[in-house]
Amino acid sequence: MAAADDWVARTAGLVRAEGERRHPGEAPTCASGISPSGPVHLGNLRELMVPHLVADEVRRGGAPCRHIMSWDDYDRLRRVPAGFPAEFAEYIGRPLTAVPDPYHQHPNWAEHFKAPLRDSLARLGVQVTEISQTQMYTSGAYTAQIVLAMRRRAEIGAILDRYRTKRAAKPEGTKPEGNEPDDDGPQAAGYYPFRPYCAVCGRDDTTVTAFDDETTEISYTCACGVAIGPTPIAQVAGKLAWKVDWPMRWAYERVTFEPAGVDHSSPGSSFTVGAELVPIFGGELPLHFAYSFVGTKGSAKMSGSAGGAPTPADALEIFEAPLVRWLYARRRPEQAITLAFDAEVGRVYDEWDALTRRVASGEADATSAATFARASGTSDGPLPVTPRPLPFRTLASVADITAGDQAQILRIVRDLTEPEPVAALAEVQPRLDCAQAWVAGYVAPADRTQIRAEPDLARLAALTESERGALKLLTEGMTTDWSLHGLTTLLYGIPKLQLGLPITAPPTPEIKELQRAWFILLYQLLIDEVTGPRLPTLLLALGPDRVRSLLTPP
Ligand SMILES: [Zn+2]
Ligand SMILES: [Zn+2]
Repeated sequence: MAAADDWVARTAGLVRAEGERRHPGEAPTCASGISPSGPVHLGNLRELMVPHLVADEVRRGGAPCRHIMSWDDYDRLRRVPAGFPAEFAEYIGRPLTAVPDPYHQHPNWAEHFKAPLRDSLARLGVQVTEISQTQMYTSGAYTAQIVLAMRRRAEIGAILDRYRTKRAAKPEGTKPEGNEPDDDGPQAAGYYPFRPYCAVCGRDDTTVTAFDDETTEISYTCACGVAIGPTPIAQVAGKLAWKVDWPMRWAYERVTFEPAGVDHSSPGSSFTVGAELVPIFGGELPLHFAYSFVGTKGSAKMSGSAGGAPTPADALEIFEAPLVRWLYARRRPEQAITLAFDAEVGRVYDEWDALTRRVASGEADATSAATFARASGTSDGPLPVTPRPLPFRTLASVADITAGDQAQILRIVRDLTEPEPVAALAEVQPRLDCAQAWVAGYVAPADRTQIRAEPDLARLAALTESERGALKLLTEGMTTDWSLHGLTTLLYGIPKLQLGLPITAPPTPEIKELQRAWFILLYQLLIDEVTGPRLPTLLLALGPDRVRSLLTPP
């Protein structure tokens, strides 16, 4: 409720103040690091959303703020992810940008995995300044820092040694990776924080044998059998061990704020070590905190084609972009997030729609309203919305009942939006596409609605007098007001009419009981189930002729 609970506003305030203290007159920098070593998952999106929300909050406040996304694309390929050809094992040990694209569509392995994330970020309104570590390292941008690290290797090695036994495992996907064996090997005396990529085989199975502090010439051997050097280090491909690389970049990019997954903040983790190393490079430890995990639920696709943990693109297929932003923005960083792909999706949309209405009517509390603003737009402006946001569950029903037939969908959506019917399906996009993708991807075929092809003659022949009367009231009265409202009133009203009550009579326990039995009869006759999509929607989907053919006794 109170502003104190608003972690985005609070962190943005700290970033502004800290940026001003460290580098007066300069825009502060928020940083994210992503490894394009394989598909970038929804969990990794938190690495981007946390700094994005903070940087964007600073900008909303009228001050500039930089958000950099460092691609750790100069890391070695450590393993071939599941589902990719085993032949790629040949490239293990080479930089991700030196491995071919398994699908031959992008310049290399790293670019193949960057492309879908870039696309998702654009859709989410997350604007970042991309930094390719391949580009930085191979252009010589870091040569001075590498020489410095090599000259101070004894000091760096001693610091790493102190934390060596407390070293924490590093998760896939975010933050620098690769060169980890360096951190574990014998350090201090024989330690070199730089690992070359072999000039002959391209792999990093190399061992530095000498470095001349005066001439900056390096010598190394490689598992492939060659011995190289002495060669000026500026001409040698390679990178700093990641626990050294990370603080070097904090200093180089003047990072003000950079969060990391909870596993990075334990004692002996990269933050603890980095805090001791960053002064060597003339920088300061960024403001930082840990964010918790992002889990998913019901995310296995029915088609089973893709497999693996869901990506931001998978989430954007079924959630409108502002909703995805909201799912990340509404939780404090220390809270875990679970993104549901199952039947809960409808509930999430309902919550979002309710929040939208509360904000519009001025009833939302300050924190919810601020979260809504951050979700529905950025400092650049609002994100696209569905002009006529029909409930997701209704659209999912329509998609389900029509099996995706666009002409049928348009007809139903028109009936649903009486008395101001939509002119075109574009008015219910992108939500309709999300609903269709959800039904196709995440609703089991057994749970989809199957309309009866033929009337249930046996059931129709066995109707009681009262059932027969109710069906007659429906088939004769339904076209008088063939709309969502008209059909809802009629369907709920028929048991009342049969009791001799007016159609507007308030429900009693007896009426409710009769309504339940009546609805079960309709589900049986229409879809051979005892439950299903909302009946008014179902009738609208079927159209009067089909309803009549299924509900009229022979
Ligand atoms: Zn590709
Ligand atoms: Zn080699």
